[in-house]
Amino acid sequence: MKVIFYNSKQYDKDYFNAANTDGQHSLIFLDAKLSLETALLAQDATVICVFVNDVVDAEVIACLAEHGVKLIALRCAGFNNIDLAAATKKGLKIVRVPAYSPNAVAEYTVGLMLALNRKIHRAYCQVREGNFSLNGLIGFDMANKTAGIIGTGKIGALVAHTLCAMSMNVLAYDPNVNQSCLDDGVKYVDLDTLFATSDVISLHCPLSPETHHIINAVAIEKMKKGVMLVNTSRGAVIDTSAVIAGLKTGKIGMLGLDVYEQEEALFFEDHSYEVITDDVFERLLTFPNTLVTAHQGFFTSDAMRNIATTTLVNITQFENDPTMLNNEVLMS
Ligand code: NAD
Repeated sequence: MKVIFYNSKQYDKDYFNAANTDGQHSLIFLDAKLSLETALLAQDATVICVFVNDVVDAEVIACLAEHGVKLIALRCAGFNNIDLAAATKKGLKIVRVPAYSPNAVAEYTVGLMLALNRKIHRAYCQVREGNFSLNGLIGFDMANKTAGIIGTGKIGALVAHTLCAMSMNVLAYDPNVNQSCLDDGVKYVDLDTLFATSDVISLHCPLSPETHHIINAVAIEKMKKGVMLVNTSRGAVIDTSAVIAGLKTGKIGMLGLDVYEQEEALFFEDHSYEVITDDVFERLLTFPNTLVTAHQGFFTSDAMRNIATTTLVNITQFENDPTMLNNEVLMS
């Protein structure tokens, strides 16, 4: 099938072309993000493939449907950027890659915690500049401290498992209890208890109306002074302005982010020769105790292989059976 890839990078081309072994699909890679204007570029394709920051709202869906698109294949797990109801209404199928590598994101999350705590990113720069002082680099032992995991699905459970192995006391909040976490000794508590007792809080819930700004000024007020907050889920689960206020008072002692609520305008592109006009984002970068990366938690060769293979399998399944009933990757 002819597949139009929006927002594609060289690494997408490399992994998708490698997975398209017998050339079963015709893959067209576009640099452009999906928008109302660029939706027209899909006019003679039945399938488009999009990523986390392509906005697939009702208007875009209507335009795609009008031009004959029947399937939107997400090359990611999260689907908060899609208007599922609008897609259903227009008869468009949506598929995604629910679990390409939970380990990739979980390992990255623990990496962020360790780097942030022991200031490894700052030490790296200091040593290269001939500064061998330890001033400011002090961290804390993570063993025997308390971690609070919000969302114990595939990624959160792996993070919890690793933190248990590091001898942390692990608490969790999730409306659905995960047996593997209970087996690891994780204790499920209510959100207020998690906020009040955790030294490290890590977010692994999807972005939804319920989780939007789940970390806001009220939540931060309930946390321990000096708490480490880490978010590798979706930017808007955190109210960034409230977090900046928390950093200024010292309530938040360390902040690790791989996602940001306005990341669409910045992430995945080189803006190093431009003036960045997002003052909230720029303020985040001024704190010595924040570590921000540009949505790279998923980015391992294993994950990219799985994303490419599963996405092409999803498209082949649609080609063989456009009704696609009972498919676990089907979203609408
Ligand atoms: P998952 O569906 O396996 O787990 C999500 C968990 O969150 C579930 O257990 C669910 O019950 C729980 N949850 C739902 N609502 C909640 C709420 N209100 N409070 C607490 N928990 C709630 O998903 P996953 O594969 O573990 O991925 C988690 C998130 O990580 C994804 O939604 C995605 O946004 C993000 N993600 C980020 C990257 C990255 O590169 N940084 C990569 C992949 C996924």
